[in-house]
Amino acid sequence: MAKKVAIIGAGPAGLTAAYLLGKAQQEVVVFEKDPQYVGGISRTETYKGYAFDIGGHRFFSKSKEVEDFWTEILGDEMLERPRSSRIYYNKKFFSYPLVAMEALQKLGIIESGLCVLSYLQAKMFPVKNPTNFEDWVTNQFGKRLFNIFFRTYTEKVWGIPCKEISADWAAQRIKGLSLSSAIWNALFKPKASGGKDKVIKTLIDSFRYPKRGPGLMWETCR
Ligand SMILES: Cc1cc2nc3c(=O)[nH]c(=O)nc-3n(C[C@H](O)[C@H](O)[C@H](O)COP(=O)(O)OP(=O)(O)OC[C@H]3O[C@@H](n4cnc5c(N)ncnc54)[C@H](O)[C@@H]3O)c2cc1C
Repeated sequence: MAKKVAIIGAGPAGLTAAYLLGKAQQEVVVFEKDPQYVGGISRTETYKGYAFDIGGHRFFSKSKEVEDFWTEILGDEMLERPRSSRIYYNKKFFSYPLVAMEALQKLGIIESGLCVLSYLQAKMFPVKNPTNFEDWVTNQFGKRLFNIFFRTYTEKVWGIPCKEISADWAAQRIKGLSLSSAIWNALFKPKASGGKDKVIKTLIDSFRYPKRGPGLMWETCR
């Protein structure tokens, strides 16, 4: 029997659910509080004719079903793009994922040595059962690298202290990544033939992006 479904919020989650329910012949109503835009924090706003993305959004999933869904919505308007991410620290740009020799050179030999010592300390004396982002990342990278590369960026993007972000969230977001895997990746880049499921999400070097920003995906769903 067809059901009538109410969805609160026309962000990626709400619109994806609504789209799939609609395809399954269910009657759906989406309630959105934004009077103009859909897409939630993945929306693209327009100002004086220019499009602004509320945060760049890489479209990358290990799930073929999810990738196929995006292709179904946007087809040729989903563009494959090489990734070029940089962390601005101490008036220098650092490639992300880290390039070992470059990071070493830009941090300087003393700071790099201190990072390695701090990493070894974290490996020898890890925080047992980490419950928050700060402790989880410190266990993976050491306190020094956490402070340099993770704390400021994460707190700026998400607007809350790292102690208040759960370790589960960190684990699913940077799953499989540690200082040793970052160095391994820098030295021996994973081959594309390894399959998407073998690639650590944080280390991908290409992704898809809608032609006119992430909001295009959700405006089209609308
Ligand atoms: C800077 C930044 C970069 C990001 N980069 C990526 C990326 O590269 N790749 C990626 O996959 N993800 C990325 N994300 C995460 C992604 O944006 C979120 O996971 C996604 O937007 C979550 O979708 P959602 O529908 O759950 O929530 P939201 O996007 O928050 O949408 C919720 C919607 O519900 C509406 N709403 C809320 N309360 C009510 C109410 N009471 N009544 C009616 N409507 C309501 C809101 O207005 C909004 O439209 C990024 C996030 C940020 C902040």
